[in-house]
Amino acid sequence: MSAADLSQLEFDQQHLWHPYTNVAKPGPTFVVKESEGVHITLDDGTRLIDAMSSWWCMMHGHKNPAITKAIHDQLDTLPHVMFGGLTHDPAIDLGRKLLEITPDSLTRIFYCDSGSVSVEVAMKMAVQYQHAMGHAGRSEFATIRSGYHGDTWKAMSVCDPDTGMHHLFQGALSVQHFVSRPPIRIHEDWIDDPAQNGLGELRSVLEANADKIAAFILEPVVQGTGGMYFYHPEYLNQARALCDELGILLIFDEIATGFGRTGELFATGFCTVEPDIICLGKGLTGGHISFACTMTNDRVAEGIGGGNPGIFMHGPTYMANPLACAAAKASLDLLTGQDWRGTVAAIGEQMAAELALARDLPNVADVRVLGAIGVIEMKHRVSADEAHARAHDMGVFLRPFGTNIYTMPPFITSPDQLSEITAGMLRLAREL
Ligand SMILES: *Cc1c(COP(=O)(O)O)cnc(C)c1O
Repeated sequence: MSAADLSQLEFDQQHLWHPYTNVAKPGPTFVVKESEGVHITLDDGTRLIDAMSSWWCMMHGHKNPAITKAIHDQLDTLPHVMFGGLTHDPAIDLGRKLLEITPDSLTRIFYCDSGSVSVEVAMKMAVQYQHAMGHAGRSEFATIRSGYHGDTWKAMSVCDPDTGMHHLFQGALSVQHFVSRPPIRIHEDWIDDPAQNGLGELRSVLEANADKIAAFILEPVVQGTGGMYFYHPEYLNQARALCDELGILLIFDEIATGFGRTGELFATGFCTVEPDIICLGKGLTGGHISFACTMTNDRVAEGIGGGNPGIFMHGPTYMANPLACAAAKASLDLLTGQDWRGTVAAIGEQMAAELALARDLPNVADVRVLGAIGVIEMKHRVSADEAHARAHDMGVFLRPFGTNIYTMPPFITSPDQLSEITAGMLRLAREL
């Protein structure tokens, strides 16, 4: 059969690659025709509640009128222009907004295309800063296990070495320094003993390699893809002091945690300290167009600027794309213009009450909720494809990974819709 004779789905399965899939054995895939609010509509008319916020981005719902209007208006004025030697209102206005809402010390913004690229940019900033400070040997990184920072090479090198399949890329990945994930969870009592709170191990790894390490990079408080694990922010406060003592920079990857998802506007808000560099992405445009940024403080920016060559060596073709900047500005205005804290808290309370029923199920290891993140951790791995098909029958789009059945619902999800999501999760926990 020639490609022209294939149905849409047949063509897709024979020619298009999907995330983390085997092209020889494509899993069940639904054709989406349109989306609106919390719903995605399939080609057969089925409507599914998007319990994943389309990979955690779509916080104000699909096809949000304010965001689509901002993109339309921008499209009619200035769809794109290169950012080298030129600038524009959308980039500047978004910058003003970002400075208003992010931790105070972060004053310099680098716009880029995706989360992984913003991590590359952050890591490059750290290396160039150390170089400028006369520490050319400091080009390696420390991180915690179970992390996830993206799929490009340098970002992948600091992902969890087991789930990130480092063995597959051996020889091609930079070797980094891993410590255990912080053992004390967010709602547990902090234990001020370095042998029990993880900081003893961190100190010994950082001290032993201080002349080689440019920065310590981690997801603050919530580890997303690496296991939906919520740890105690005091770890970060003390890690900050340790990094300062040893001249190591601190990078927070807030790509998943940013914009209210955890109950704080940024997970940094749980801490008493601020990072040197922060990565933002995913929810930045409310899920309407790919965009990300890396922000840093004056010390790092001016340090790089005062070094040789002084210029920061990165510049994506679509840097500061005006459509993406306009979408992001509209999304952030929507977020800060509402009682996001109350909304996220209400979602969290309802999820905690409804998901608690899963605790008694024989195959459930743990149930946890933080902000608008709800997780049922199973004792065994769950097949995403099987879960996906069953959830579809219940009118919900869920895509578990590893042992976790989880949701990050859009903030506009109504209590009834949220109950449909949690009912779907409970059923998966019972049946899979
Ligand atoms: C998703 C994610 C990334 C990668 O972002 P992409 O836009 O997929 O490249 C990096 N870090 C964290 C914490 C993420 O959740």
